[in-house]
Amino acid sequence: MKPRIGFFDFTGCEGCQLTVLNLEDELLELLELVEIVEFREVSSESSEVLDIAFVEGSICRPDEAERLRAIRKKTTTLVALGACADTAGVNALCHFRDLKELRQEVYGGEFPQMMTEPPRALAEVVAVDYRVPGCPIDGREFLSVLQALLVGRPPELPSYSLCVECKLAELPCTFEAGQVCLGPVTRAGCKALCIEAGDRCRGCRGLIDNPRSDPYHRILEEQGLSVEEILQEFRTFNVEGRGKKD
Ligand code: SF4
Ligand code: SF4
Repeated sequence: MKPRIGFFDFTGCEGCQLTVLNLEDELLELLELVEIVEFREVSSESSEVLDIAFVEGSICRPDEAERLRAIRKKTTTLVALGACADTAGVNALCHFRDLKELRQEVYGGEFPQMMTEPPRALAEVVAVDYRVPGCPIDGREFLSVLQALLVGRPPELPSYSLCVECKLAELPCTFEAGQVCLGPVTRAGCKALCIEAGDRCRGCRGLIDNPRSDPYHRILEEQGLSVEEILQEFRTFNVEGRGKKD
């Protein structure tokens, strides 16, 4: 029997699931190895038992937390798919605003499906076994995580910073152009995609395990950033001290 895998989404833009769907050729090969038993983007089928659940999005309402717990119960392995699921991503910026005010500002009123509590990463509600970081995820990394799980090996993420990949690709450093970059403290794995496209790193893959924050803060200060501006840089994708675990 093929391993049964499912894809689930909570609050997010669904860009990570689209990245999976864009792996058209690889997906066809994948279907020979696994059975996709649940994937709302492409099918209305569902399953009571799963081997691997890939879960996208943050948890922003009590009913979402309930549904996530139900997914946890029926799957052997649960993988957080993308920054919204992994760290609460950009959604976590809502922690700095009054939710009622925000709902009014964005939607002009109250609707039943709206965020009612500050966004949480999946790991703040249930146990998460593995994660695929990034906003959106990197398709190749998703495949390598799935491949590792299928052969019974724990998936590994790069432990070094993005600067390593950026230097290997011989890209010009954004600091030299007077722009701040979170590459020195951000986990590698995206092949410095944003830097190559002329942008800077905003840390969507999360921090490396032991970021040398103090020297990095000094570099940012040398760039003329105030403490508040430095915190703002980190907050885009790495808000600390979010909601408690249930
Ligand atoms: S991590 Fe980014 S691409 Fe993925 S669902 Fe969240 S906002 Fe969308
Ligand atoms: S552009 Fe960013 S990621 Fe690349 S070397 Fe400079 S600081 Fe590091």
